[in-house]
Order: sequence, then C-alpha cells, then structure tokens
Amino acid sequence: MDKIWLSSPTMHGDEQYWVDEAIRTNWVSTVGVNIDEVEKLVAQKIGRKYGVALSSGTAALHLAVRLAGDRLFGPALAYHGVLEGKKVFCSDMTFAATVNPVSYEGGECVFIDTGYDDWNMDPEALEKAFDIYPDVKLIVLAHLYGTPSAHMEEIRKIADRHGALIIEDAAESLGASIHIPSISSGNRESTQSGGAWVQTGCFGDYSIVSFNGNKIITGSSGGMLLTDDMEEARKCRKWSTQAREDAPWYQHEELGYNYRLSNVIAGIIRGQIPYLSSHIEGKQTVWERYRTGLRDLPVSMNPIPANVRPNYWLSCMIIHSEAMCPQIRSERGNLYTDTSGKSCPDEILSALMKVNCEGRPIWKPMHLQPVYRNHTFITKAGIGRLENGMRIDVSSDVFERGLCLPSDNKMTAGEQEIVIDIIHRCFK
Ligand SMILES: *Cc1c(COP(=O)(O)O)cnc(C)c1O
Repeated sequence: MDKIWLSSPTMHGDEQYWVDEAIRTNWVSTVGVNIDEVEKLVAQKIGRKYGVALSSGTAALHLAVRLAGDRLFGPALAYHGVLEGKKVFCSDMTFAATVNPVSYEGGECVFIDTGYDDWNMDPEALEKAFDIYPDVKLIVLAHLYGTPSAHMEEIRKIADRHGALIIEDAAESLGASIHIPSISSGNRESTQSGGAWVQTGCFGDYSIVSFNGNKIITGSSGGMLLTDDMEEARKCRKWSTQAREDAPWYQHEELGYNYRLSNVIAGIIRGQIPYLSSHIEGKQTVWERYRTGLRDLPVSMNPIPANVRPNYWLSCMIIHSEAMCPQIRSERGNLYTDTSGKSCPDEILSALMKVNCEGRPIWKPMHLQPVYRNHTFITKAGIGRLENGMRIDVSSDVFERGLCLPSDNKMTAGEQEIVIDIIHRCFK
C-alpha cells in the first residue's frame, strides 16, 4: 500500500502559475505581488485589518511576543529579551513552537492545564493561575488540531480583568470559527439565531497563522502575523526585514530579524487560498468517517463543542480509561502489554506504522518536556499535577490515551477503511 500520511500538502496547479509568474517577472525576493496578495486575502478572510507575511508561524509568534513585550514593558535593549524576568501564561498541550518564543525573549512560561471539553486552555485553570500570579500580563494560547477554544470569550474577559494581552496561535486552525452571540456585524458571517461566526485569528491582540507543509493550506513554509493596529503592523514588517531605519546607510536603532516571506513561497500560498474551504470539507469527511467507523469501539473522537466550527485539520481519538491496556512511556521509549479487549495509543501507532500509515501521539504537554522541567504548571486545583500521588491534570491524561490518526486529504475511503480495520484489530 502507498504511504498514508498524517497530513501532506495537497497541490492544485494554481500554485505553479503564481510561482512561475514570480520567476518570469524576476520578483523572487522578499518583495512582490504574491506577498501583497497573500497578506490582503488572508487578513480579509480572517477579518483582521493587517497581515504581515513572515517566513514561518514560529517567526510570527516571536514577533508577536516582541510586540506584546514592547507594548507592556517598553522597548527591549538590544541585548535583553523583552520579557526578561516576566511570567507568561501558556497553553500546556501544544506544539513547542507556540511557547518557545516566550523563552527566546527571556520570559518564563507558566503552563496552564487543558480542558476535556475542547482540548484547549482551561479557563478555570487560567483563573487559578491569576489567583496565584496576579501580575501576569500576557497569555499565549493555541487552538489545538483545528478545533477552536470553546471558551475564548471567557478567556478574553479574564485577560481584560487583569489587563493582560493575548497572543493567539491559530497555526493549526486557519478557517475555523467560533460562534459569538453578542455580535452580528462586520465582515463576520451572521446567523439566523443571532450572533456571528468569527474566524480564529481574530481573538488575539496579536494572532498568527502558519503555512508549514502539513497545515490545512501551505506554502511549503511561511506564516503571518495579524493585528488591527497599523503602527504595530508597520513595526513588525520593519523588524522582519532587519530593522533598517530611513537613512542613506544601514542604520539600526532596533534589533531586527530576517523573517520576511519570500515572494516565491507566497506564490504557492496564493495558489492554495482558493482551496481552503474544499480542504476543510475534505478533512471533515475524514473526521466523520472515523467517527462512524470507530463508533463500536470504547473510544471517542477529539471533542467538538457546539459553539465552534473546526477546520478538522487532524482527526484524533482518545481511548476510554477502562479500555486502556498497560502502557508505560519513558522520556524516549515505550512499552505496552497486548491485552484482549483493550489497546493503547502506542499499540495502535505501531500497528499503523506496520502498514505504512502515519499516525502521531498527541502533542506531549510542555510541563512534561525536559526542556521546561523547572517551569510551573497550573491546573484548576492549583500548582503541580499530583494530588495524593495521583495524576490529576488533563494534559497528561489526553497525552496518554489520545492519538492523531492519518488525516490526509488524499486518503481514499478504501484506504481509510483499512486504517479503521487495523484499529479494530488492536482491540481484539
Ligand atoms: C505548526 C505550528 C506552529 C509553527 O508554525 P511553523 O510555520 O511551522 O513555524 C506553531 N504552533 C502550532 C500550534 C503549530 O501547529
């Protein structure tokens, strides 16, 4: 069988056209029409005033952290991180790229536990964190696997109450939206029952998306920062191109980066944008086939709360606790015991690998990562994750029992049946 990927790029031909156009007209550097169009189209689609196209989602997160730091604490000196000595509340169960930029700038990530209902930041744990550290002024939050936070409005209220800014990592959730009952205007899609569906990427003081190779649409790489503040968009664009001042020579009065998107890569992204909704439809079909196909097993799909519309980027499942076979994970290895009627993520992942199918464990929570071992982790019960020697946090439970299934848009129904069949065999 051909390899079934977790999530590989799906090209259509338009991408080639805009890349060729860039080469034909010799605009192959970090200036050009593809970049301008991508910034305009993505900001428009999401509903933000300004988009700044950057070399990656991680670069966008880094510049978001710089902007937030400048706004909160004043500009950083060249040799000091802008968050030096400051605590920042961060999503715990996410990709390391969400939180690393806080560390690049000398900030201290404090990890906030996850909720079972949406697998995103738990607002109760966030409240607890503010009880313990009331002076924190920045929150970095991700929408995991394309399912938006179901508690975004609540989290915004908590942030406002403490005068904190929010950096929204929508790298995985481009095209996903949240129902907001209290608004009905703008370019947001209004509904008959009142309220409107608002795209992820609208909820941060600074928001970011990614065009990395396995995301819902891709440029092979690339990212974008979104904001409604013209001056901050200008600053971000300047920093991303080495922070040159308007002078006859290379004059530097701020610290700069080489983070701008290439016009060639922007051509690929420009060609992908018209296919965003069809990619989402394809991913939804994959998710629904899994839901139907796995219905008779003691497992659930990743949760989708009623007030959000995911982009279904990755289909995930979680095994019910009573159906887990013994599974032990060390830092780099794992062991499990094949048990009749039960299974575990590592058994399923290795069974899939044997037939050339790519699954993946859930993002290992940041509070379990050795690189962040001495950082604080907060659940709704308070600091730490042990109570009477028992694990009580949600992140490590979802990590232990959950996995990402092959979610490629080019997987056929027949191929997906094989995947579903393999999962069934693991429970035999
Ligand atoms: C992919 C991803 C990023 C990073 O994006 P890059 O473009 O690969 O730098 C950040 N956060 C999350 C949650 C991601 O999945």
